[in-house]
Amino acid sequence: MTIYLDYAATTPADPQVIEVMKHYLGIEDIFGNPSSIQHHVGLQAEEAVEQARAQIAACLNCRIKDIVFTSGATEANNLALKGIAHANQHLGNHIITSAIEHKSVLDTCKALEQDGFKITYLRPDIDGKIALKDIEQAITTQTLLISIMQVNNETGFIQDIAAIAEFAQSKNIFFHVDAAQSAGKLTLDLSQIPIDLLSISAHKFYAPKGIGCLYIRNRHNVSLKPLFNGGGQEYGLRAGTLATHQIVAFAKALMIAGERQQQDYDHALNLRTQLLTGLKQIDGLIINSDLNNSLPNIVNLSFKNIGADMLLIRLQDKIAISSASACSSGTIEPSYVLRAMGIEGDRLYGAVRISFGRFSHAEDIKYAIDKITATVQELRALV
Ligand code: PMP
Repeated sequence: MTIYLDYAATTPADPQVIEVMKHYLGIEDIFGNPSSIQHHVGLQAEEAVEQARAQIAACLNCRIKDIVFTSGATEANNLALKGIAHANQHLGNHIITSAIEHKSVLDTCKALEQDGFKITYLRPDIDGKIALKDIEQAITTQTLLISIMQVNNETGFIQDIAAIAEFAQSKNIFFHVDAAQSAGKLTLDLSQIPIDLLSISAHKFYAPKGIGCLYIRNRHNVSLKPLFNGGGQEYGLRAGTLATHQIVAFAKALMIAGERQQQDYDHALNLRTQLLTGLKQIDGLIINSDLNNSLPNIVNLSFKNIGADMLLIRLQDKIAISSASACSSGTIEPSYVLRAMGIEGDRLYGAVRISFGRFSHAEDIKYAIDKITATVQELRALV
């Protein structure tokens, strides 16, 4: 039996989402190409896409036309950063981001460096916070864009994006937020916070993988260079046939997440309390997440003198947890996020991420506590 505790990597689709999605695939369903608006089959699909876009915009409290569908947050982050940079180079060539962003932001920044952009990678404090004053100090007359994630995928830390947004707006600098881990979990009222671009990935909140969006505030007035050339879909910003079934699933999942937000949050908080109460019985537990400023569904922790690789190998058929982010595991490099936070030694090499969600139960957490406790004891007995 493997207990899944890697919800930050991806979530299973909600049964209600699967139910909705099924009606957009087969011959009896709404399977048409949403761009084939010369006939009824295509028009029905187009209506479904536009209804979903409106539902998503309502959840985020933004304009319907400001939502551009993408394959997920990786693509949305690429589109935001490369799109703004390449279309607005005349306004400046400097971008500010942080050293703890997801690889889809960091590697995009590396690519932009090759194109002549200057990037400042800010370091967080030991808790994972990016200080507004560091952003203020980093700006130059050339600063075009600031890109900071709302919630970190390894620690769950929540940045004060409202404060950064106000500052960026006051300086006329574009502000992009990677909301892959926060959308559907924290209230995002885009009419209240002056964010220019925001990336969402639906598989983090119980929709299938392969769908997300980039929100572009006042899209008509922002120049953005598209990543792809093609059929002109999404106002020319993202060519490619729209995936109707995934888009309706995305909208359904975001609506459910909105309705259940408090319930899901409280559930995660209860599970986190249970988990940490249990694991605190183990000597040398170190919690790397800042519990007061993190989403409760992600906990990052280390055990003194225990390497994460040894722990994970022994646990892999029992509980699915991860070390560093799923996207960079497979390499034995320790987490660059924790390293940037100033975490070193045992604590760095021993760090594991446990993340849970809507379908996790108290029994799963109990099982995980038992298995982790036994495995840590076994490993300690070996030395
Ligand atoms: N940003 C963050 C913070 C993430 O956690 C992830 C998913 N690991 C991504 C971006 C990439 O999202 P996607 O899987 O939709 O490409």
